[in-house]
This record gives sequence, C-alpha cells and structure tokens, in this order.
Amino acid sequence: MTHPDPAKPGDKAPPGTPGTGENICPRCHGSGKIDGMSCPDCAGTGKVTEPIGGA
Ligand SMILES: [Zn+2]
Repeated sequence: MTHPDPAKPGDKAPPGTPGTGENICPRCHGSGKIDGMSCPDCAGTGKVTEPIGGA
C-alpha cells in the first residue's frame, strides 16, 4: 500500500503532488455527504486535493 489516501474523483491532482493540498470539497462543502449519501467528488471525506496558490 503505497498510497493510503487514493485519488478521489474531485481531486484536481494526485495526493502528495507538490504545490497541492487538501481543500474543502466544493460539492458537499466539507460535509462529505450529499442528501445522506457519500459525496462522489471527495468519496465522503469532505476534502479534495487542489493546487495551492496559483490558478
Ligand atoms: Zn464532497
């Protein structure tokens, strides 16, 4: 298991990519759930990996 935190559909970059970091999932606003179901973008974690700073 080299990747304990696998990429999620909502990730903009693979976890661990330089210049990126975890951010609140914009789809579920960090709750990890939408209408009582796991958010598909963040896989229910409430966080996604996105570039920091630029963009
Ligand atoms: Zn989400």
